[in-house]
Amino acid sequence: MGFVTDIGGRTSHTAIMAKSLEIPAVVGLEKATVKIKAGDMLIVDGSDGTVIMNPDARMLKQYHAKQQKFFRFEKTLFGLKDEPAETLDGHRVEMAANIELPEEIDSVISHGANGIGLYRTEYFYMNRRGLPTEDEQFEAYKKVVTRFEGNPVVVRTLDLGGDKFLSQLEVPHEMNPFLGWRAIRFCLAKPEIFKVQLRAILRASAFGNIKVMFPMISGVEELRQAIAILEEAKEELRVRKIKFNEDIEIGAMIEIPSAALTCDLLAKEVDFFSIGTNDLIQYALAVDRVNEKIAYLYEPTHPAVLRLIKGIIDAGHKENIWVGMCGEMAGEVALGLILLGLGLDEFSMSPAAVPEIKYVIRNVRFDDAKKIAEKALTFSTGTEVEEFTNKRLYELIPNLKKISNKTKP
Ligand code: PEP
Ligand code: MG
Repeated sequence: MGFVTDIGGRTSHTAIMAKSLEIPAVVGLEKATVKIKAGDMLIVDGSDGTVIMNPDARMLKQYHAKQQKFFRFEKTLFGLKDEPAETLDGHRVEMAANIELPEEIDSVISHGANGIGLYRTEYFYMNRRGLPTEDEQFEAYKKVVTRFEGNPVVVRTLDLGGDKFLSQLEVPHEMNPFLGWRAIRFCLAKPEIFKVQLRAILRASAFGNIKVMFPMISGVEELRQAIAILEEAKEELRVRKIKFNEDIEIGAMIEIPSAALTCDLLAKEVDFFSIGTNDLIQYALAVDRVNEKIAYLYEPTHPAVLRLIKGIIDAGHKENIWVGMCGEMAGEVALGLILLGLGLDEFSMSPAAVPEIKYVIRNVRFDDAKKIAEKALTFSTGTEVEEFTNKRLYELIPNLKKISNKTKP
């Protein structure tokens, strides 16, 4: 029904999984396991990040009412399922969702996303003996892409490491796992493992609109190496006379500051960017995303983060490629206004966050969002940005305050 943890932040992998499985969760409470005893009754309010132990009758009643309001709000938003994510003045963006398991597709479709902006593939490699085969991965990718009938499905290649541990692969324990041998670094060192996945993705590309995306790219050289291995995988399929999309779109995740600052160069080598704010924020602000003690420093609205995001979007557009975002920031309501105004082309988030973001986009003017983004970039602190965007959000869409369950967005 819900869970709480001592450690973690809101973009730790545990929190992301909870969101995608729609399980109420509050993470990073530090002493929950000491304070909470077996048999205690808990209210877990995932919208607010609050946990109440042994509530009295009044409190229970209040939270039951809040829960009902939440369900009613969800129902209202579900009405937008088949509507496009288009502003009042006709600017359209792509609404996509993030998944880890093929079983999540139903939830993506029912929440009204029309594609997958991030298919995390670590799941294949976790909690199992041995490595996943090419056929097993191919079947899973094919299943997902055929369900989306021509709509985009972005498969991200293996991003092990950080807070995603793999039981089978011999990855040594590291002092700084988020700065260590993870993601593309691991794949480039193990091309035989990497190519199995690339061939599976390529084979599935014959059945729908699959795109391939590399995580943790730090610069042009690494990107070129990844593309060279993709080319080898293509050649191996040609030799086996297996069909695939020769022009499969290739994307780079922009989640390392060095990539963000050189994305004018990277943009010349790929078909799209997807901004991974979960990591980009932790690296730009030097804030470990799973460390609850410094979670207060993890600020998506920090001027440094906003400047990086603006730079990435502008550089992508200058080279005529589309720019999406698949970090958790894309699903934060008030920040959606800034991202929209900065010209983000695709928003990808936990399926459950899709309806509310779509509602916001459909109830504002692109012109207004542009002004909000412009103004947001003039503030000196993240707090000022947050206060300003929240204020503007409720001024532009007063209805949201009335119906939303959240006490703070
Ligand atoms: C990110 O870093 O923003 C991202 C989407 O990838 P992950 O959370 O899997 O690291
Ligand atoms: Mg990441």
